[in-house]
Amino acid sequence: MAPHRDINPDNCEKCRRVFAALEDHQIADPETWLTTVEIGKVVGLKKRATQDHLGHLFAKGRIDADRRTPLVGGLGQPLLPGAQQWAAAIVAPDPTCAKCLVALAVHGWDGQIHWDELAAAAGVSKRTAERHRAHLIAADFLAFRAVPNTGQDGKNYGRKPDRYTLMSGLTAPKLAGAAWDEAPAVAAQVIERVRWFVGYTEEARSNAVKSVTWCLRNGWPEEALLRALDASENRQAYNPGGYLSKLLGKLPTEYVIPAEQVWRGEVAERQVDCPTCDTPFKTKMPGRVLCGGVVCLRPELAVIPPDARVYTIA
Ligand SMILES: [Zn+2]
Ligand SMILES: [Zn+2]
Ligand SMILES: [Zn+2]
Repeated sequence: MAPHRDINPDNCEKCRRVFAALEDHQIADPETWLTTVEIGKVVGLKKRATQDHLGHLFAKGRIDADRRTPLVGGLGQPLLPGAQQWAAAIVAPDPTCAKCLVALAVHGWDGQIHWDELAAAAGVSKRTAERHRAHLIAADFLAFRAVPNTGQDGKNYGRKPDRYTLMSGLTAPKLAGAAWDEAPAVAAQVIERVRWFVGYTEEARSNAVKSVTWCLRNGWPEEALLRALDASENRQAYNPGGYLSKLLGKLPTEYVIPAEQVWRGEVAERQVDCPTCDTPFKTKMPGRVLCGGVVCLRPELAVIPPDARVYTIA
């Protein structure tokens, strides 16, 4: 058998286990640092052996120089035709944005990537790629978060690959009917599950429920709100009510739906009235939808305000 250093990590069962452990940890707890011994425990290897496979993964470009960050396009990454198809079909703000989006989608609906690598893949300079990243974020096609690389010693070692999620550009519809009425009860459950929200006064709790209700009615999904609130490491807020409203204040008013959810059709059906002909219908499409999707099927019934100026095509 070939020596370890000559084989592809894809073909080394232990390299694959180590890589998988790093990936799992990154998803479960991206801000903390695993020691070699801890990784070894997860995969059932001694410290020395774990070091060998970590070193090999780094040598073959599968993990970053910190020996902890799996790189995208790492081991046996399945291509995600969904994300790429979506990116190719999107009407991006400009052609360079489109190029960056397509290059990003090669790595899936979400993940981590060094922005200079993305620039290289898109065939543009890093500065250009950064400029268009801002366009994509403004157009709600991209959520982006830089990840600082803080070592165990608390020192800053530059940046880890940036985290991104492809977004649909569509915002979640406001709640209506029964869901609107149920929002305060759901909000109370959300508050209940925020781990640091303890030692509050009854007034603070009632205000918190009101604020969360407002977000829910505005289209924020329960799970997304909980994630945003509970992500804080602060477990003993001095003033839980004030801290909660500070966190909520940082959220955008409307919830932008991740592209993957829209692509998979995981958007709840809702009842709307066609803005043109006023016919009620059910749809899963977010945003402003007409009875035939992007067109009105009954334009002859169009409700035109009496003072509207109507242009006809000659
Ligand atoms: Zn190996
Ligand atoms: Zn652009
Ligand atoms: Zn219509």
